[in-house]
Amino acid sequence: MAGTAERIRQLKAERNAVILAHNYTSPEVQDIADLVGDSLGLSIAASRTDAEVIVFCGVSFMGETAKILSPEKTVLLPVPDAICDMAAMCSAEDLMKAREEHPDSVVVGYVNTTAEAKSHMDICCTSGNALKVVSSLAEDDEVLFVPDRNLGSYISKRLPDRRMVLWNGCCPIHDRITADDVRRVIEEHPGAPSMAHPECRTEVLDMVGFVGSTEDMLRFCRTSDADEFVIVTETGMRHRLESELPGKRFHFIESAVCEPMKRIGLDDIARCLDDMSGEVTLPADVITAAQNPVRRMTEMK
Ligand code: SF4
Repeated sequence: MAGTAERIRQLKAERNAVILAHNYTSPEVQDIADLVGDSLGLSIAASRTDAEVIVFCGVSFMGETAKILSPEKTVLLPVPDAICDMAAMCSAEDLMKAREEHPDSVVVGYVNTTAEAKSHMDICCTSGNALKVVSSLAEDDEVLFVPDRNLGSYISKRLPDRRMVLWNGCCPIHDRITADDVRRVIEEHPGAPSMAHPECRTEVLDMVGFVGSTEDMLRFCRTSDADEFVIVTETGMRHRLESELPGKRFHFIESAVCEPMKRIGLDDIARCLDDMSGEVTLPADVITAAQNPVRRMTEMK
């Protein structure tokens, strides 16, 4: 493994590349990355880097988002067919149809969508800024929120006067976490502050003390005096938390594993840097149409 890591470092220098990894990737991938973060942080990093090549260790929509923000750069996906199940629940065709049915709605789209779907949105958001994005719209605008019904319900509950139409999609990993799963882990660690990702169901969110994106969770744990926490999101986040906050302990629901994220390994990173495979290519008109909603998202931190 050390040999592969060394090879990656060499290739990275030769290619003038930067390696970005999502919080849900496996520990060895996070450890080799130049930056580990959530979708918003990584999108901003992708738009600002001076590197010529971006290796995006994440599912395909993340590489596409980087390409939309930096079309002049080469964006490589180590495992191009690692696809987010939620993104697959909102096709561009279905979204166009929904726009026709709701012609006066503002389409707010979660970043977990394909580039083509993004090209039909008015503004994108992440779990870290969705509340801010929806709050920024004119009060009487109806919002068509796609594709995560759980994140949409969470926003709708926080903004009860806002008219929102919710798409019927979800993250299968977060959506299958039950209230019983959460109760069990909370009872096993009494007194530990608990938190959940807004992709979870309402009944799960109602059980925890804090709801936020993975970066919000990290901030919460960093500033808290507690030394153990219940974390309800994908288990890859444990490595990020343990790396940044040594000495604190984190309790997860162990079945919350995103298999596409875990498919990415060091060999895949080395291979794509070596032969420049897995390049993200998008039609120019899709990039142009998706740029405005994605840029609006990155401006709203
Ligand atoms: S955890 Fe869910 S939303 Fe995130 S990449 Fe995996 S399937 Fe998609």
